[in-house]
Amino acid sequence: MSRIRLAAFLFALLCAALPLLLFAAEMPSSNSAAPGAPIARRGAEEARFPPIHVVVVDPGHGGKDLGALIGGREEKALVFNLALRLQEQLERARGFWARLTRNGDVYLPLAERVDRAQAVGGKALVSLHFDDVRRSRWRGVKVYYYGRFRRIKPRPGERVLPDPPQAQIAESRKLALRIHEALRLNGIPAAAVDRGAFVVLKSPAIPSVLIEAGNLRDPLERSRLEAPAHQETLARAIAQGVQSYLAELPAIAKR
Ligand SMILES: [Zn+2]
Repeated sequence: MSRIRLAAFLFALLCAALPLLLFAAEMPSSNSAAPGAPIARRGAEEARFPPIHVVVVDPGHGGKDLGALIGGREEKALVFNLALRLQEQLERARGFWARLTRNGDVYLPLAERVDRAQAVGGKALVSLHFDDVRRSRWRGVKVYYYGRFRRIKPRPGERVLPDPPQAQIAESRKLALRIHEALRLNGIPAAAVDRGAFVVLKSPAIPSVLIEAGNLRDPLERSRLEAPAHQETLARAIAQGVQSYLAELPAIAKR
C-alpha cells in the first residue's frame, strides 16, 4: 500500500512541477545577453532571437491631400491599400516589422514622415505613390532615390530638410536597385532606377526610396492596378527587394 501511495505522491509532484520545468526551458539564461558573453554563445542567441528590422512604409498623400484624382479614384486611398499589403508581406518574414507613417486617411507634412521613420528606428523607408502622367506611353513602376537630377518645388509652408550625405544616397541607390531587381523577377515592368529631389527621400540615416507604382492616367494600367492579384504581386516584389537589401547589411548595422 505504501508503495502505491509513494508512487501517487511522486506522480502528483511531477504534474505540479512540469509547467515550471517547461517554462524554465523556454527562458534564455539570465547572463547570455551580457556584453562579455562568448561570441559563439551570442551567435546562438542571435539565431534564436534574430534582430528585428523596422521597415517604414509611407503611403503618399492623405487627408486633404488626395494625390491624383482620376475617374473618381483617389491616389491617397489606392496607395494606402498597397501600403497595407506591403506591410503584411514584409511581416511574413521572421525578424521584420513594418510601420506605416500614417495609419489612416490623415494629412501628414512630408518632413514629418521622415521624422516618424527616424523615431521608430527605421532601417529602410519606402514611400508609395502612383503616377499621373498624361502624355506618356510609359507603363510600369518607377523607383526613385534621392538626387537633384529632378528638382521638386517645396510646397508652401513645408519645412525644408537639408540634402542627405553622399554615403546615405549611395545606400538608398542600393535599396532602389534591389527593389528594381525584385520587380523584374516578379514579372513587373520597371524603368531603370531614377533620382528625384523628393522630401521623403531626405532622411540623413535611413535608406529611402519613392515608388511610383504605375500610371493611373493610362486606362490599361489603371485596370491592372485595381486587380487585387496584381497589387499582391507588386507588394510581394517590393517586400522581397527591401528584405534582400537588409539581409546584405553587416550584422552590426542590423541592430
Ligand atoms: Zn503621389
